[in-house]
Amino acid sequence: MKPAAFTYHRARDIEGVTRLLDELGDDAKILAGGQSLVPMMNFRLARPQHLVDIGGLTSIKGISHEADGSLRIGALTTHHMVETAPDSLIGRDYAVLRDAMRWVGHLPIRTRGTVGGSLAHADATAEWCLLALLLDARLTVRGPHGERTVNAADFFHGYYTTALEPDELLTGIVFPRPAPHAALTEFAERHGDFATVSAAVTLDLAEDGATVRGGRVVLGGVDALPVRVPEAEAVLAQGRPAGTALFRDSAAAAAEAVDPPSDANGSAYYRRILTRTLVRDACKEAMSR
Ligand SMILES: Cc1cc2nc3c(=O)[nH]c(=O)nc-3n(C[C@H](O)[C@H](O)[C@H](O)COP(=O)(O)OP(=O)(O)OC[C@H]3O[C@@H](n4cnc5c(N)ncnc54)[C@H](O)[C@@H]3O)c2cc1C
Repeated sequence: MKPAAFTYHRARDIEGVTRLLDELGDDAKILAGGQSLVPMMNFRLARPQHLVDIGGLTSIKGISHEADGSLRIGALTTHHMVETAPDSLIGRDYAVLRDAMRWVGHLPIRTRGTVGGSLAHADATAEWCLLALLLDARLTVRGPHGERTVNAADFFHGYYTTALEPDELLTGIVFPRPAPHAALTEFAERHGDFATVSAAVTLDLAEDGATVRGGRVVLGGVDALPVRVPEAEAVLAQGRPAGTALFRDSAAAAAEAVDPPSDANGSAYYRRILTRTLVRDACKEAMSR
């Protein structure tokens, strides 16, 4: 399949991108790694008349630490750059980001696909979408009238829909909260496919290192957007010893709370079973870190 005809624009700077998007309106789309947009264009699911290629904007590519200790990842950073980042850039506190990359497609996709593209595309099982919600990330967005910050909890609106306006560019994502005990796991029919269900967990441990004070549970594939599961988090906040019983109870609460869809990838019943297994496994993995 070939895409419908379009005009190609190569952006030189961020101001040029927002100016072009402002001028061209809904007829334009940003092109980052092209790993989601190009297949959609090839299948004629997307027919933008203008593509604005941001691939040359090195200022929004890379991983750095902010003065307050938070971690910033530029929107054009590839999944593979995160996967292979040294400990000096992504240490134990954010290791879940690096480890989660193994679940994103295949190596060629990870070397081209970008963190910003993944967040902007907003597939409900995309690893970056879950991680953003899990770690209370802040997304920085530039438009023709300046920069704004959107909290991950307000960024995802539904199936492939976000808080981004058509004339806005996502420039980066900031992770403000270290999470040494965190894990993401998932199930996909074939390795490299998008997950049927994915689960991400953080655990807050007491000083003794053996009691769980609280935690966060985020699921993908059970709704139109990644969701937190307060019922499962409430179990983690009971102040119980870390271990099989606690993790099993939290996972059961998650499976009970969700109302997943049935589709070609699995029934609602199947997704509930996956939820129970994956939340339990993610808790165990988070604890083992
Ligand atoms: C076979 C296959 C398997 C895959 N499996 C997975 C998987 O398991 N998990 C997963 O998460 N992803 C998966 N992907 C998708 C991959 O991660 C993509 O890289 C990602 O979804 C989009 O990133 P991109 O840079 O390629 O964006 P593009 O495809 O270039 O763009 C995607 C969308 O985001 C918009 N956009 C891109 N960058 C920005 C920006 N900075 N600001 C505003 N809008 C922007 C574009 O206009 C477009 O609408 C898979 C892809 C393929 C082809």
